[in-house]
Amino acid sequence: MRVLVADDSPTSRRVVQTHIERMGHEVLVAEGGDQALEMFLDRRPDLVLLDVIMPGRSGFDIAREMRQSRRHDWIPIIFLSGMIKDQDIADGIDAGGDDYLTKPVNPVVLRAKMLAMQRISDMRHQLAEANRQLAHQSNHDALTQLANRRSLDEYLSKQWSSAVRHGSRPLSLVMLDVDYFKNYNDHYGHQAGDECLVRIAETLKANLQRGEDMAARFGGEEFIVILPETPIEGAVLVGERIRNDVRDLAIPHQHTRLDVKRVTVSVGVASTVPRSTLSLEQLLGLADKSLYEAKGAGRDCVRSRVLETPDDVRT
Ligand code: GH3
Ligand code: MG
Ligand code: MG
Repeated sequence: MRVLVADDSPTSRRVVQTHIERMGHEVLVAEGGDQALEMFLDRRPDLVLLDVIMPGRSGFDIAREMRQSRRHDWIPIIFLSGMIKDQDIADGIDAGGDDYLTKPVNPVVLRAKMLAMQRISDMRHQLAEANRQLAHQSNHDALTQLANRRSLDEYLSKQWSSAVRHGSRPLSLVMLDVDYFKNYNDHYGHQAGDECLVRIAETLKANLQRGEDMAARFGGEEFIVILPETPIEGAVLVGERIRNDVRDLAIPHQHTRLDVKRVTVSVGVASTVPRSTLSLEQLLGLADKSLYEAKGAGRDCVRSRVLETPDDVRT
């Protein structure tokens, strides 16, 4: 641990510092409250030992400021004081402290209290890590690690609304579906099918050029790429490149009905300039329609459509 020790008495500082260094921890020494606060912000200690009575502001005031400066980052604070009255304990906890040590500091008690704080700190880190993983899982597809449907829907709605507000920004979708993938699974097995989807997902990711572009798993063997501020020509180019790159993976597929005995994808592109008379569902519907046309045209190809009026989806 990195331990910040703040005390205006040089003797007391040195004693505490020696004890802590003997336990194998790093010590940051502050001679007063202001320096302690500065080090707290700049050096991110794992634990703070804070003298209560110091010239200028008291340890309680400093603790209060430390707590206010880092709302989301709990770092244990232990007060050091010569005499402790019951009210001091209450005030210290109230100021944001976690425990008390009487001076002169007893190394056995110091070690025990540091251990207790370390334990709580470790648990908090584990909890934060678990929360981080949960947040990731709720937004990503477990197999491919692409954005999942939930996160896609959210992002797409946001892009749609922002484009409508702006008024003249195009938005394009590239929808893909693996060709004769049922046959692939039937002949090579589900496991091989999964691996194939992972490689296609990687190909999609490699084709994202801007920070705003997003690739997601739309459903089983269907994927989608969102291209904000991209007109139809650009989206078709991306679609063609992905189609080519998937072909270039050269994953053998003896049971495709195509001449090239490889895994291929069909691609449907849809583009529009979002406005309030149109809807996101229509754009998705048109991408689906383009994809259906690509399948009909023999697969392993790209088809595209522009959404200008709601009728474009129906006809
Ligand atoms: P088409 O060229 O018309 O798209 O033919 P297809 O066989 O790909 O189409 P279909 O929709 O009939 O089959 C999709 C198949 O994709 C069904 C299933 O076997 C496979 N599939 C869907 N999701 C997964 C998955 O997560 N893992 C694996 N291994 N296979 C999947
Ligand atoms: Mg003092
Ligand atoms: Mg398919």
